[in-house]
Amino acid sequence: MDTRKGLAVLGSTGSVGVNTLDVVTAHPEQFVVVALAAHSNVDLLEEQTRRFRPRLAVLFEEDKAALLRQRLRGLDIEVDTGLEGLCRAATYSGVQLVMSAVVGSIGLLPTIRAVQAGINVALANKETLVMAGDLVIRPTEPTWGCIIPVDSEHNAIFQALHGHQRSALRRILLTASGGPFRAWSREAMQHVSIEQALQHPNWKMGRKITIDSATMMNKGLEVIEAHHLFHVPVEQVQIVVHPQSIIHSMVEFYDGSILAQLGIPDMRVPISYALAYPERLPNALPSLDLFEVQTLHFYPPDPERFPCLRLAFEAARVGGTMPAVLNAANEIAVQAFLDGLMPFLAIPAVIEATMAQHTPVALEDAPVALQADHWAREYAKAAVKELSLAKTVS
Ligand code: MG
Repeated sequence: MDTRKGLAVLGSTGSVGVNTLDVVTAHPEQFVVVALAAHSNVDLLEEQTRRFRPRLAVLFEEDKAALLRQRLRGLDIEVDTGLEGLCRAATYSGVQLVMSAVVGSIGLLPTIRAVQAGINVALANKETLVMAGDLVIRPTEPTWGCIIPVDSEHNAIFQALHGHQRSALRRILLTASGGPFRAWSREAMQHVSIEQALQHPNWKMGRKITIDSATMMNKGLEVIEAHHLFHVPVEQVQIVVHPQSIIHSMVEFYDGSILAQLGIPDMRVPISYALAYPERLPNALPSLDLFEVQTLHFYPPDPERFPCLRLAFEAARVGGTMPAVLNAANEIAVQAFLDGLMPFLAIPAVIEATMAQHTPVALEDAPVALQADHWAREYAKAAVKELSLAKTVS
């Protein structure tokens, strides 16, 4: 009998996906890849498919899927496409764990389908919890699969809470690197270039999340995620700016004890933990050298210079569809900045304007979240257009 854990990797050609397959390669006795899914990178998905021989390969873009189907002809591998394809990958027969590392709101439905089918999800996709945390995390549904967070901070909190009484949790101390502009004045941030914003001091990540890190929206979204994952009000989540990214986050219990998870900043650590949970996998990464680190620094967050933090807390407090709107407006604003359409500080301005126009409603099901997402994108795009027109005129 095959005792290996069956995996579906959604977003297999992105950085978390590639790292996941690295971990799988190092532990062939532990895992078998049942399904692979990616957005549009046909060359890399073909290569991964030939290497891991999943039963199903999915490319979200239809014409790319057709191309992959052609290239894989003769192999006994099914090729599918679209959102339905992603959902099929997440629930394919033999899948015991889904790694959800797709980018954007398309990650929502596959995760919901998987947990409903009783399959655990290692979650690296932020949008799922931000947009619809209440729909995904159901402690009252014992047959549902559980969410194992992959993001380094939530993974640290998850590890620190393991084996502890959840009701004894007083605070979550969510660490933040502070990004490349941690020590910059608001004045200086007015003239930030795309290249400067893409320089992250500690982590190598995709472009969108690197910009989110520079605006600190990444941390704001993580506060909302932590609130859902660990069932705490956002007021109990304290952001701690810790530029070294050595402590990946901490939990404080009501007796005043604080537990932290420390390690070198390498995504393969939380990915391994999420894949093997509740066990641990050995790896060949270097140990953290505390003598080299010597000092750890901590600073309070500054919502004045980083308004995205304030907006995220506000969206979480309002609840319902507001976090979905925050997230969608942010995506549009970040893309507009990356396309050179507007300055760095216009990112929070576009989000704030979009939130101000939204009438939040309760989150009954995924379509409600997706509708709010769609509305916010359209509104934010119009706001960007206005801004860039104003720029050309002036
Ligand atoms: Mg993170």
